[in-house]
Amino acid sequence: MTTDQTLGITIFLTITVVGLLTLISVYLMIGMAAQDYGNRHEQPKAQPVARPAAGVLFWRAMRRKCPICGRGDVLHGYFHMNQNCSGCGAVFWKNEGEWTGPMLIDFIFALAASLYTWAVLVYFSYSVAAQLAITGAIAAFGGIAIMPWSRSLWTMFLFVTGEIEVAPEQAK
Ligand SMILES: [Zn+2]
Repeated sequence: MTTDQTLGITIFLTITVVGLLTLISVYLMIGMAAQDYGNRHEQPKAQPVARPAAGVLFWRAMRRKCPICGRGDVLHGYFHMNQNCSGCGAVFWKNEGEWTGPMLIDFIFALAASLYTWAVLVYFSYSVAAQLAITGAIAAFGGIAIMPWSRSLWTMFLFVTGEIEVAPEQAK
């Protein structure tokens, strides 16, 4: 094995390990938030809102649909958020500050995509100029490509953490 190949594999493994650790911590975070949500809704006063299974929620996020009813679109066009769900009327993002979450997802995705590309380029002994140009392009493209999903995933996250409340007359 050449030095470049060893280096490429090392980069690849490092990103994978760091990525897995990040995924595990995010999973635990969402799990705890979901538990809080469940506890809150066990109180007799609270309106019971049926929460769909995790798989259903994830599937809805992938299709960029409302996490609550699965009918209304989270976005119109490629980048624009809808204010309300056209299916159930839930307000997706109550405050403007919600942009930071999806932006972080965009950033992490772009970073991961470019780092993996970099590992491959190093493995095949590409020139430094090519490494810079290609990883840069992948980072920019990846960050833009993920945008609709980072927004719908964030909306799902807000719903799981109880940030999106469904009005009693809308809850079925
Ligand atoms: Zn809805």
